[in-house]
Amino acid sequence: MQRFLDALSKGVFAVARCRYCSSSVWPPSPVCRRCLNSDMEWVYIDPSKDEIKGRIMVVSESYIRGVRFAFIELENGVRLFGRVLEDDNPETEPSIGSLVMMVRCGIDDDNEPYYLFKSLQASTSKT
Ligand SMILES: [Zn+2]
Repeated sequence: MQRFLDALSKGVFAVARCRYCSSSVWPPSPVCRRCLNSDMEWVYIDPSKDEIKGRIMVVSESYIRGVRFAFIELENGVRLFGRVLEDDNPETEPSIGSLVMMVRCGIDDDNEPYYLFKSLQASTSKT
């Protein structure tokens, strides 16, 4: 957990991965939730260099200080609460199913981890 926070404070997203079953261990935990193994490796993702994409599962109706809060599932299976930047373009209006990409992560002034996303594409499930 400390390793996760140390990385996050430098703007790097660290995800523990179980060496046995290769599943991502999230939220960070000393044991794998799937096989209870404690042999972990860390995968470091820097949003300024690496693409971390995901899909919105739930999103708030309104913007608060220029962001919407959303529950997002990443490509690696990690699910987290993120913030999605305000977007005036209806093509990329964040909604359920929208494709998003992490632009920044870190620890905010209140000492809370944050994950900031931008919307790449509006939900394709709309008819
Ligand atoms: Zn495992």
